[in-house]
Amino acid sequence: MKQLLLLGGGHAHAFVLRSLVGAPIEGTRVTLVTPHRHHLYSGMLPGLVAGHYALGECVIDLAQLAARAGAAVVYDRVASVDPLRRMARLERGGEIEYDVASLNLGSLPNFAAVPGAAEHALAAKPFEPFVAAWERLRARGRSQTLRIAVAGGGAAGVELAMAMTRSLIAGGRAGEIELYADRPAFPPGLGRRVARALASAAVAIHPSTAVDAVEPGPVVVARGERRSFDALVWVTGAAPQPWLAETGLTLDPAGFVLVDQHLRSISHPQVFAAGDTATLLGAALPKSGVYAVRQGAVLARNLRRAAEERPLESYSPQRVSLALISCGARYAIASWGPFAAEGEWAWRWKDRIDRRWITAFLP
Ligand SMILES: Cc1cc2nc3c(=O)[nH]c(=O)nc-3n(C[C@H](O)[C@H](O)[C@H](O)COP(=O)(O)OP(=O)(O)OC[C@H]3O[C@@H](n4cnc5c(N)ncnc54)[C@H](O)[C@@H]3O)c2cc1C
Repeated sequence: MKQLLLLGGGHAHAFVLRSLVGAPIEGTRVTLVTPHRHHLYSGMLPGLVAGHYALGECVIDLAQLAARAGAAVVYDRVASVDPLRRMARLERGGEIEYDVASLNLGSLPNFAAVPGAAEHALAAKPFEPFVAAWERLRARGRSQTLRIAVAGGGAAGVELAMAMTRSLIAGGRAGEIELYADRPAFPPGLGRRVARALASAAVAIHPSTAVDAVEPGPVVVARGERRSFDALVWVTGAAPQPWLAETGLTLDPAGFVLVDQHLRSISHPQVFAAGDTATLLGAALPKSGVYAVRQGAVLARNLRRAAEERPLESYSPQRVSLALISCGARYAIASWGPFAAEGEWAWRWKDRIDRRWITAFLP
């Protein structure tokens, strides 16, 4: 019996599991390693924080999906992979052998060597502890004004800042939310729409302002000023799992697994990777769920083909992708290449896409 090991229950592996429902790979045992039973879908995280969704509406039940796919589940974290011994080591000490392994472990917050950030900031990722910490913050000292800083002016940072404002308004809480953005993250037209949306959500922006250090409190040090907040939410890009550096897999300069057009490690053909964990050779794709989702379908077919020793399919990334930025209230900005538009209709569109994605994994 061959062993196919799915390491991490991200978007792409959810697809792989779904492809196995009613269509198992003959002669192959499939095992998923995941720390949690549920995968929280990032596209709906701002809506969860804003209060538009309940937690149960934003998760994929990996245990149920794996059961339908005929896959075993091991609840643990991968601590390392040894591609020479074809073995994955788990955090609690066990090891699992594989014939083919696939990595879809996402990414970690990128503290970018900012002193004190890892210790005193609240990382948006992993999502589960972030959501729990946000609920605790909202419940704290209800008569006080809650002062929150957000580091990171990309789509995730602006969406979360506006979602938190919305959540405070809905809970009848007074709050002040400030956003630190070290550089413009959007093309000018889209950037103007985002700036207007932030202003109407009463999020104060510090443009071209990098957080230089974080002190206990937390106190944000930026441009020589020290400002105190109730929390600093860290949403500044993606960092790889540090243990990847010791695996011998060929990595990109940032430390993500370099894969070829088949989503296969360029150094170890028995290892596949997709989503944030992987970097496609020759293509500078953003670390975004959109790509993890698209790669999932190709990965599913290629893992089957690899197990059956058939030729692999190629993945070619879309040149332009649709971005839908939710603005706290039921309002969103849509962008597609150079085009952008906004309105309540864009939020309803995003809501439909997200709900369709998540319900596709239900029985
Ligand atoms: C606040 C926020 C909002 C975002 N919103 C959007 C959006 O609207 N649209 C969009 O396209 N992108 C969005 N992104 C980016 C998006 O989250 C990532 O690009 C996407 O989640 C990557 O998908 P993935 O499948 O690679 O990994 P993930 O979705 O991160 O899944 C990885 C899984 O692996 C598990 N895992 C992690 N480490 C281990 C380990 N050691 N062992 C075993 N399992 C492990 C995790 O628990 C997780 O379930 C957002 C990001 C943030 C921070």
